[in-house]
Amino acid sequence: MNAVQVKGLGLKLGGRQVLTDLSLSVASGEFCVVIGPNGSGKTTLLRLLAALLVPESGKIELFGQPLGRYSRRQLARVLALVPQQAPTDFPFSVRETVLMGRSPHLGLMAFERATDLALAAEAMAFTDVSHLADRRLDQLSGGERQRVIIARAICQQPRLILLDEPTAALDPAHQIKILDLLERLRQERGVTVIMVSHDLNLAALYGDRLLLLCEGRADRVGTPVEVLERARLERVYGCTMVVEEDRRNGFLRVSPVPARYRKD
Ligand code: ADP
Repeated sequence: MNAVQVKGLGLKLGGRQVLTDLSLSVASGEFCVVIGPNGSGKTTLLRLLAALLVPESGKIELFGQPLGRYSRRQLARVLALVPQQAPTDFPFSVRETVLMGRSPHLGLMAFERATDLALAAEAMAFTDVSHLADRRLDQLSGGERQRVIIARAICQQPRLILLDEPTAALDPAHQIKILDLLERLRQERGVTVIMVSHDLNLAALYGDRLLLLCEGRADRVGTPVEVLERARLERVYGCTMVVEEDRRNGFLRVSPVPARYRKD
């Protein structure tokens, strides 16, 4: 079954066409990376998928059901959104923050049950933040905070997790750690992952399917090899690019070419 089915999506914001006739299918358990230049509509697409914005045209289905038919609460049981910036002024402990992921599953005024506490402990172990459980979120490093926000999303037990540049502020080792975590989530629990990223190399490393957006339209949807073509990237990003296969590991590497190295 498709986790996400988007057809003919269009949206205008502030009088400007931000997304045009966008279609995308993401299979259940797939890792999809949305790439594209600044302002191409990546965050807007995530916000539409999370029902934070309503499209003007087209339709969105999650797990076979129109998005509009989900109540807020039902949606929170199916989908978790990890925003671009983890909050920095958040006076809660790591454990409290992660437990907030359980709220869509609790009754009105209900307290967490033992199973909720166990799920929070498991999510903290999964993201390697158990040792930080009693620390306040606003006293952690950027990488630690990001892992806690992902732990909260995992604790929510979603079938679909949407992430907006979750690794933008992290060093390469922490980037890989977070993305390996998402990959494990996908493999071990069948969670579908849709991630917005500026990093074409990370997209090549982790994406089963890439969506390349250009001025609000899908320029190409496909595997990394299908999407990360040199001429296509040069046209979309407007700069000279190198795309090469790392023969030892079998993945693609993409790099823009600075003027000082250009031979033409
Ligand atoms: P990306 O995530 O690819 O950088 P966005 O989805 O954030 O792009 O934005 C796409 C375009 O929509 C940009 O040109 C942005 O300025 C515009 N935009 C986003 N939100 C609004 C808004 N609320 N009102 C008007 N324009 C907006």
